[in-house]
Amino acid sequence: MTSEFEFIDQLRRKFGKPNKRIVTGIGDDGAVIAQSSRKDMVVSADMLVEDIDFRLGWISPRELGHKTLAVSLSDIAAMGATPLWSIASIGIPQPLWEGDFLKEFYEGWAKLAAKHHLKLVGGDISKTPDKVVVDSTVGGEVRKGRAVSRGGARPGDSIFVTGELGGAAGGLKLLEAGAERTGAAAKLIKRHLMPEPRTEIGTVLGELQIPTAMIDISDGLSSDLAHICSESGVGARIHKNKFPVDKNLIALNFPDGDELALNGGEDFELLFTVPRYLRKDLRNKLAKLMVTEIGEITEGGKIELVNSEETQELKPRGYKHF
Ligand code: ADP
Ligand code: MG
Repeated sequence: MTSEFEFIDQLRRKFGKPNKRIVTGIGDDGAVIAQSSRKDMVVSADMLVEDIDFRLGWISPRELGHKTLAVSLSDIAAMGATPLWSIASIGIPQPLWEGDFLKEFYEGWAKLAAKHHLKLVGGDISKTPDKVVVDSTVGGEVRKGRAVSRGGARPGDSIFVTGELGGAAGGLKLLEAGAERTGAAAKLIKRHLMPEPRTEIGTVLGELQIPTAMIDISDGLSSDLAHICSESGVGARIHKNKFPVDKNLIALNFPDGDELALNGGEDFELLFTVPRYLRKDLRNKLAKLMVTEIGEITEGGKIELVNSEETQELKPRGYKHF
């Protein structure tokens, strides 16, 4: 059966060819459209479906409003762009229409939007038989030619990741287990329910023009690194002992912290590559922002995971719908 990624590839071959106006079409975190002699526009869309992408028993309407916007902001950051506007659409069943659901949803949405100086410019509302569906589109801009694609990594480049990994997947496991929302567990659950998009660092990286390729970690490090490698026509070697595993997973003695950091999705950190000679420059310029070097880009298409004792081939094992 066709996988989700194969289907997107088919769409891309059929409809996604770049032209004079379309700098980047289907296949990256956002599309890039030429806007003026100085700016390009970046646009990204995401859909969240009840009981597939979220459960109303676990996430509050306010948190869902936040998350809906956060996932799109993350894609804009992954292009090195600055978000400007959003279009949000929602389908809900009659009983939720009659309660406070939408009021709270938009309060959660608006709080995050205000933090990133974003304006709501449109949307749509529809009725569903019994589940909630939300669709979020965010547009932003970047200096002309500076959008960072998934396709520019070169052999020898260093691979970096922002923040910590595996926390969101750990939070989901805790929700599934019905854990108390206290201490480190509460922090992990919050990482799952209310991700913080890396808007600031994404904009800085776009301005610096240091990254050769970038993606946000939505499906899981192993899958998202595979996207960079296939788009760039390269391989990669990453080192397990360098992973910035979420400290709350370590505090709770999660037995599979490394595995969650590697394959768990929805951390919404940025994964990017940098020419080796610019590593120090990058660290100086990012100053207090947390980034960790986890490996290097190699020739050929293989992705290798280096452990203390062995090196094994890494297969993409992150999340996919189909
Ligand atoms: P992300 O996790 O970064 O949002 P996705 O896996 O959702 O990425 O999408 C990858 C690429 O495929 C993006 O460029 C997106 O615009 C494109 N894409 C996904 N679904 C569709 C679709 N139904 N029609 C056209 N393009 C799509
Ligand atoms: Mg993305």
